[in-house]
Amino acid sequence: MKLHEYQSKYIFSKYGIPIPKGRVAATAEAAKQIAQELGGRVVIKAQVLVGGRGKAGGVKVAKDPAEAEQLATQILSLEIKGLPVRKVLVDEAAAIQTEIYFAITNDRAARRPVMIASAAGGVDIEEVAHTNPEKIIKVHIDPLLGLRDYQTRDIAAGIDLPRELWREFNSIAQALWKVYNENDATLAEINPLIINTSGKLVALDGKMMIDDNALFRHIDLAEIRDIDEEAPAEIEARKYGLSYIKLDGTIGCMVNGAGLAMTTMDIVKLFGGEPANFLDVGGGAGAEKVAAAMKIILTDSNVKAVLFNIFGGITRCDEVARGILAAIDEVKPQVPMIVRLVGTNAEEGRRLLADANMITAETLVDAAQKAVQAANKK
Ligand code: GDP
Ligand code: MN
Repeated sequence: MKLHEYQSKYIFSKYGIPIPKGRVAATAEAAKQIAQELGGRVVIKAQVLVGGRGKAGGVKVAKDPAEAEQLATQILSLEIKGLPVRKVLVDEAAAIQTEIYFAITNDRAARRPVMIASAAGGVDIEEVAHTNPEKIIKVHIDPLLGLRDYQTRDIAAGIDLPRELWREFNSIAQALWKVYNENDATLAEINPLIINTSGKLVALDGKMMIDDNALFRHIDLAEIRDIDEEAPAEIEARKYGLSYIKLDGTIGCMVNGAGLAMTTMDIVKLFGGEPANFLDVGGGAGAEKVAAAMKIILTDSNVKAVLFNIFGGITRCDEVARGILAAIDEVKPQVPMIVRLVGTNAEEGRRLLADANMITAETLVDAAQKAVQAANKK
């Protein structure tokens, strides 16, 4: 789950990280009102759950409330990377001296969190990672020991932070670690962390991602989830407990079990196809869940063929077949469907699907080849 900038910065501030004064607005009039309250220059920032808003025209500085209203109107009519802007954050404008990149995320390879900092902060950290990887300082955090003060000093030295800011930097780093740890985050990012012209550190931007699997113990965070910002297919998938990730290919894959789903994708690729999604309907999926999964796959207009690879164990193939039939009834798919059913009640499943105008396959290799062929025909 991603948090908006204003939500992330609110959490940062609760842990003592300095942020600019500001509030969120859904209309240009409200933005003007906030600008009046703040006085002076303000920055209007689109609240959408994608990066690079600045470059897309979603971050603008206004000199007075009238201009704030005008810029808010403009930004509220934008669509950034496909997402309409519904809210703007109106913050006191900062006078920037230096922009630093500062974040904590998970390093899966190292099996622990990593704190990352760079003096080349601002908008394009990915670019820096690519062209000047030596400018990025990384320190791994032992989750049992926590973040040690010597580690934050190493980072401060690594990014050439002025000495007089080290103590302040250490408290921000410790706070960010607490933010990350206590909220089960997978990302807590400040880009940029600035040194303003008064020589103070301020978190100008904020981004957090929370581990979905931990949301049950963060009810307050689960409640502020902004589902307007999420792909409808993913919301639908979550509702039915399906693991679904959209990809760019043309072959929709419906599989039970994450390992089998990955294998299926690999074999599709082996025969020259590209999977349109990863989808694990999970163990013991009933007809309703299968139907929901199928509808999700078919709403993707890139899908030119659907491959069902079901290995019946706890999952019963006849239940799966009933789900497929229910979905066919409802969505009337126009694309070829290839089905491979093996295991518990496979016979019954195949019998149910016999009249459904589906291409049956005996083995996974057979199924994958047929799916690739069918997808390439169109
Ligand atoms: P992002 O593009 O989504 O990462 O949005 P940011 O909030 O990080 O803003 C992008 C850039 O806009 C920052 O790196 C700054 O250079 C600039 N910016 C943002 N807020 C302010 C501000 O209050 N004052 C000034 N002068 N520049 C700002
Ligand atoms: Mn940023």
